[in-house]
Amino acid sequence: MPETPNAPGAPAGASIEAEALTKVYKGSALPAVDAVDLTIHAGEFMTLLGPSGSGKTTTLNMIAGFEEVTSGRILLDGDDIARLPPYRRNLGMVFQNYALFPHMTAAENIAFPLRQRKVGRPEIDRRVREALELVHLGEHADRMPTQLSGGQQQRVALARAVVFAPRALLLDEPLGALDKKLRESLQLEIARLHTELGITFVFVTHDQEEALALSDRIAVFRDGRIEQVGTPAELYERPVSRFVATFLGDSNVFAGTVRDGRLDTGWCSLTTGTAGASAAGTGPAALVVRPENLRLGVAADPGANTLSATVTDVVYQGAFRRVLVRFDGGGAGQVRDTAGTGGAVAAGDRVEVGWAAEAGVLVPDDEPAATPEPEPAAAR
Ligand code: ADP
Ligand code: MG
Repeated sequence: MPETPNAPGAPAGASIEAEALTKVYKGSALPAVDAVDLTIHAGEFMTLLGPSGSGKTTTLNMIAGFEEVTSGRILLDGDDIARLPPYRRNLGMVFQNYALFPHMTAAENIAFPLRQRKVGRPEIDRRVREALELVHLGEHADRMPTQLSGGQQQRVALARAVVFAPRALLLDEPLGALDKKLRESLQLEIARLHTELGITFVFVTHDQEEALALSDRIAVFRDGRIEQVGTPAELYERPVSRFVATFLGDSNVFAGTVRDGRLDTGWCSLTTGTAGASAAGTGPAALVVRPENLRLGVAADPGANTLSATVTDVVYQGAFRRVLVRFDGGGAGQVRDTAGTGGAVAAGDRVEVGWAAEAGVLVPDDEPAATPEPEPAAAR
């Protein structure tokens, strides 16, 4: 059975839609996935990002067909596939732990899905060779998994997942078991594969840097629900909640109450600007300011915010330095200072920290008292 060619001009990848997708595991009171709605466009690189236990794997496994759907629908190019067995969905899958057959060579592992689909021998040989080339493992066709490094094993797993020309590739923390350097090189490989194959990728990770680097769009999971879906820039610049703001990237968070267009933190009063203000409304809110938007010195524009602080630490990071501060009367903060612009500063110095009103994003405070206020996300 040769691969089904796509109609001319049709995208190589399938669209995937989840509608009120829900999973309640037997014996659980709470749903692991709770009425999730998500549209993944044909050919898109979509990342499911969230902390451990937030429902990412369960969602992916329901799409793959490894986990039964409790309720809701999954549409592949508009067709409901929620009741189809995994092999009939024709989706590639890559797991964190490689999951190669230990008694088969790299080539035999890659051939496996083709043999399952009763593809003829010459066709199998040709496509296995192509898949090995695709992941730069042409030399290693006859190696056993134990004779391959972790990174090479994961390349074999990638080749095996795409050899039958699936219309989407599902990846569950595929780089989670690799060290940082290898992870970064395989990230580039995965990005290249996505471009070359043109199919839809659904990529699960709990690593926000990985998500920002790879994705067309990211769905942020929290407690079995999706908190926000958007491009990396949208999530970073316009988070809808304190949870999203602190999960993606470093931030300074000032929690308080909105009154007359200002945020009262109990120890200072801040201009909120307009971003996110309507979403936050009135009541408990948090003003999020990214470290690169804080300046050492008095804010230039009238109506901007300036706070007095004491420097607690200066961390040199090459292209910039991270200046950690403690605001007078408040908590900790951090300034990402492009080397030199803030002048010489050292721990113990008294400084002014300023930012333009529009640099702050006001979000509903969905995590009151989760951290002493205002506490920045842990320095990474
Ligand atoms: P993630 O991949 O985001 O870490 P999971 O989808 O694995 O999250 O898990 C979501 C929730 O479902 C967690 O609370 C987890 O403990 C629970 N869970 C996952 N798998 C099972 C299972 N087979 N049986 C019961 N509960 C499960
Ligand atoms: Mg998981």
